[in-house]
Amino acid sequence: MSVLKLEDLHKIYTLGRGLQVHALRGISLSLQEGEFVAIMGPSGSGKSTLMNVLGCLDRPSRGRYLLDGRDVAQLSRDELAEVRNHKLGFVFQSFNLLSRTSALENIELPLMYDKGGLSMREIRERAMEALRRVGLEDRADHHPSQLSGGQQQRVAIARSLVSRPTVLLADEPTGNLDTRTGLEIMEIFQELNDRGMTLIMVTHEPEIGRFAKRRIVMRDGRTVTDESTADRANAREEKNKLPVLVEEDEEGVLT
Ligand code: ADP
Repeated sequence: MSVLKLEDLHKIYTLGRGLQVHALRGISLSLQEGEFVAIMGPSGSGKSTLMNVLGCLDRPSRGRYLLDGRDVAQLSRDELAEVRNHKLGFVFQSFNLLSRTSALENIELPLMYDKGGLSMREIRERAMEALRRVGLEDRADHHPSQLSGGQQQRVAIARSLVSRPTVLLADEPTGNLDTRTGLEIMEIFQELNDRGMTLIMVTHEPEIGRFAKRRIVMRDGRTVTDESTADRANAREEKNKLPVLVEEDEEGVLT
């Protein structure tokens, strides 16, 4: 069964004076468990609109969206919240971390809102486990301002993982990052995907789209190409080819 299926999906925004923008013009696609898809295309092609619909943040004007075989339009408010909190994980371009809270507390937050029977100790353990998965267990007490952009994005990824979603939706996750850091994020995504996580990533950068197994290109609200590749680029290998960086440790000493 498909994890996610779209059938002839349309989205029309109505602006003032009856003006309409047809942002999605009949998208049909099906995604299986364990896929890593990049949604690409120029600005204005409908990528964010599609992501908003996939993330159940916006409703389509026409067409059907089936998540785990269930029509999202038929879900009650509570069921929709449940889907959003437990099936889907979100990663954004701008990290969206709370600045006055530590990395660990940021990651705990989704579970604080919706404990699902977990004790505080279990929540902390889950958050630490997520932090370990992104290689930042030694930064648990750091606040976002004490972390680099790439580290902040890794915390945001850990936060998206803590509810153990089935699908991770990432909207331009490397948009604010330099090349090396972008590769680090892709390395994490590829590791998650190798362990079975289904990933959908919007990016306008072909350099980043290469790391997905399937690439969908959009234009004017339609998909123009949809290709799968067995030999995606390997982010870890590419990162290892870059020249070694000189880094400062916490005391500002070059290492
Ligand atoms: P992309 O993410 O590929 O840049 P978008 O999904 O943001 O594309 O936009 C697709 C089209 O829909 C564009 O023409 C954009 O101007 C329009 N659009 C997006 N969001 C809205 C909105 N909230 N209201 C009206 N038009 C919108």
